Amino acid sequence: MRRRAQGDTPKSGYTSVMCIICVELAKQAMTPSEARRALREMTKLDKDHVAEVEAKLRQAEADAATTKP
Ligand SMILES: [Zn+2]
Repeated sequence: MRRRAQGDTPKSGYTSVMCIICVELAKQAMTPSEARRALREMTKLDKDHVAEVEAKLRQAEADAATTKP
């Protein structure tokens, strides 16, 4: 079994549904506040998925608050 580089490992708990916000968040290419703004513009997103993204945002914000250098 090959180990993937750190940062390239998908977190368990992710569903197969991934929008651009999830992708960017997973890569940490987007800050939670940018993602929130993007989420508001993503009107085509599923309600369920919006809730999922919001949960990820809360998690990302909590991580950002606790992993300050
Ligand atoms: Zn998504």
